[in-house]
Amino acid sequence: MDNDMDWEEAARMELGPDTLHESQGSHYLDCPECGSPATIENVVQHGRCNGYLDEQVEGVDFDVEKISCTARLRLELAYTSDSEAEE
Ligand SMILES: [Zn+2]
Repeated sequence: MDNDMDWEEAARMELGPDTLHESQGSHYLDCPECGSPATIENVVQHGRCNGYLDEQVEGVDFDVEKISCTARLRLELAYTSDSEAEE
């Protein structure tokens, strides 16, 4: 793991139906730095987008071979519960 990364200072964005895309079984979001598709799997496993990893996403018309990217990516899951229903 990258313990030297300062994730406190990292930019954050919310994922929603408009920011999450799907192509031929792969779910991805747009890398905020280079705009390449960043599959959820690569973000979670490598912390990098597909532009950095040179990994084409099937069915997506984006040539990752021409891309270099320095973005470190991490997904977070925010969690809260419904407050107790009041009677
Ligand atoms: Zn990128």
